Amino acid sequence: MGVKSIRDLYIKGKRVLFRFDFNVPLDAAGAIKDDTRIRRALPTLEYAVQQGARCVLASHLGRPKGERKAELSLRPVAKRLAELLGRPVGFVDDCIGDAVKDAVASLPDGGVLLLENLRFHAGETKNDPAFAAELASVADVYVNDAFGTAHRAHASTVGVAELLREKAAGLLLKEELENLEKAFANPQKPVVALFGGAKVSDKLGVLQNIVSRMDAVLIGGGMANTFLKAHGLNTGTSKTEDDMLGTASSMLEASRKSGCSVVLPKDVVVAEKIEEGAVSLVVDARAIPDGLMALDIGPQAVDEFAAVIVTAGTIIWNGPMGVFEVEEFSRGTLEIARVVAEARGFSVVGGGDTVRAVQQAGVAEKISYISTGGGAFMEFMEGKILPGVAALDV
Ligand code: AMP
Repeated sequence: MGVKSIRDLYIKGKRVLFRFDFNVPLDAAGAIKDDTRIRRALPTLEYAVQQGARCVLASHLGRPKGERKAELSLRPVAKRLAELLGRPVGFVDDCIGDAVKDAVASLPDGGVLLLENLRFHAGETKNDPAFAAELASVADVYVNDAFGTAHRAHASTVGVAELLREKAAGLLLKEELENLEKAFANPQKPVVALFGGAKVSDKLGVLQNIVSRMDAVLIGGGMANTFLKAHGLNTGTSKTEDDMLGTASSMLEASRKSGCSVVLPKDVVVAEKIEEGAVSLVVDARAIPDGLMALDIGPQAVDEFAAVIVTAGTIIWNGPMGVFEVEEFSRGTLEIARVVAEARGFSVVGGGDTVRAVQQAGVAEKISYISTGGGAFMEFMEGKILPGVAALDV
């Protein structure tokens, strides 16, 4: 792929427009709950500052839908970024217009300026050409380091890239692409994918693309219930997607033909309701009692999944094995996180919930690569070209 790295560009004294992913979770009082996304942007930013670039930073935060919403201002991010960077970070309360032009004009070499939330303007998500031109007008160079939004063709990810000749990926985006390519394009075999989460329908594209390329696919979480039902089993009151039963059956059929073994949980943890303190029990997945729902994989399933994971050369994981937010149904996910962390294979984990589960299990450090992408990670696995990456290809 012909995507340059920021290291390939001469940026000293140049006005560089950076697209970062500062879409951080905020608490009710507006404080940053988790600054991981800001920290992941630091290597690129520190490099640019050190090179003497004039750094103009853009990001979105939440979904203000084209309206200015005080609670979705990036101002707290500027403050946190300044603390982490150990140098001042200017802030303008818009991302286009005269105030931005003035602030950029007085930015010294190595200076850092954060613009207000891109999505306060409807032109951002519509990839409006006039909005993109306004953004591009304050920059000589464009650097995209926001893997989390690379699957979106927005003004700040695609429109601007088409207007600026000098462009590159930041260090995080490069790292994401290198690691995901290592897991997908040229993986160490056997390759094992681990899928969970709520629904089959959300992950259908990925499952269909991946089955022929994997040696084994382990399915847990809510989506396993639809597969169990497709086998003709009783799933009690478990959440299933009945319109997906045919698709699930044909996927199982396709996997048999391609030599990929799809493993479903042998046992599951069931309860009447999803709530803390609920009475739960482990049952055979072929005998889920009426009136109960499967909310986690059972100990036998954990052992069986673990036996496959430990033999893998590459492990790709998206989606929790159960309702891990509730203690009673978290064991399967947390144990699998530990197994993935201890496995000898190259492990890649993506998706907000899965990353949280890995952190909750205290094993994040031992995962080979944790992607910052949720949707982008899934679309990459689907084999789709990410528009934000394609726009950097020269
Ligand atoms: P996803 O965003 O598709 O990866 O789904 C994550 C969500 O799936 C988490 O909030 C889990 O609580 C939920 N989930 C996992 N397993 C189950 C299950 N067996 N039944 C219902 N929800 C589940």
